[in-house]
Amino acid sequence: MRAAVLHGTRDVRVEDVPDPRITEADDAVVRVVAAAVCGSDLWAYRGLTPLPRPTRAGHEFVGTVEAVGPAVRTLRPGDFVIAPFSVSDNTCRNCRNGVHTSCDRAAHWGVPGPDGRAMDAGQGEAVRVPLADGTLVPTPGPPPPGLIPDLLALCDVMATGHHAARIARVGRGDSVVVVGDGAVGLCAVLAARAAGAERVVVMSRHPARQALAREFGATDIVTARGREGVAEVRRALGGPADSSLECVGTDLSLRQALGTVRPGGHVGCVGLPLGITRFPHRDLFAGNLTVAGGSAPARAYLPELLRRTWDGALAPGRVLDGEFPLHRAADAYAAMDTRRVIKALLRP
Ligand SMILES: [Zn+2]
Repeated sequence: MRAAVLHGTRDVRVEDVPDPRITEADDAVVRVVAAAVCGSDLWAYRGLTPLPRPTRAGHEFVGTVEAVGPAVRTLRPGDFVIAPFSVSDNTCRNCRNGVHTSCDRAAHWGVPGPDGRAMDAGQGEAVRVPLADGTLVPTPGPPPPGLIPDLLALCDVMATGHHAARIARVGRGDSVVVVGDGAVGLCAVLAARAAGAERVVVMSRHPARQALAREFGATDIVTARGREGVAEVRRALGGPADSSLECVGTDLSLRQALGTVRPGGHVGCVGLPLGITRFPHRDLFAGNLTVAGGSAPARAYLPELLRRTWDGALAPGRVLDGEFPLHRAADAYAAMDTRRVIKALLRP
């Protein structure tokens, strides 16, 4: 079968790879219907994170179960499933605590699993899924084609935006700042509004992203950065925000998030950290801030997010504003790299 493989800086190739097959009793094989390219895929693509060997790419995919091992109980061939961005057993202590990303048996698409074998990844025609019961979430039935982008957004970006709003304790009537206008930041806008936020300020400089942020419920846009950005947020809201959602992962975005929140406020950090070497503890101390952060336990949130998406109450799929056939994966990466699209959807 064909799959996208990242070979080096700005070098994505779609090539022949072994067909996936059931090797463990709790495996499933999923035929991919749609996969996405993540902003974090671009870091290795841009050479910002090391790539020791050619690596299968993609950690966001939805598709149809093709085969299941004899121990799989909750899925059967033909089921349409959503795959969160990490593998989990859904039974260990960390999973029971809702921290599936720290599962004792956690594994990540495209990188070697706990058994040392390389895992399949989402940007391909099919995927072997270990711990299928604990990892995959089936939809109530076959989804209408128009719902596929919305379901695909739940694998990572919408779950991550939801996590940001949740750990920053966004509630009814709150004012919220979203730092970052990528797919996660835009989903964080949806999540903040769904949690009852009255004002949502998005820090964005890109007209297309500003427009989508507004459609997702943002009430204010701030284009400035640094001290001026902090001042503009305060002018817009008449003071600092109740909560700040950090959706980028850089030193600058972290300081922006800490600088825009009120004393006693809450900061949710969900941007994958890149180059943050020191946490500005003094800011936390001076403002009595509550700061939480981490990789979203997408598997824990999927049942709820799926229900709301299936009912039509949540529609994050518009962050996937560019669609490419799988064989043009290199073009999809390039389009995201140059910001011609927010997020690319790949069809095998
Ligand atoms: Zn677990």
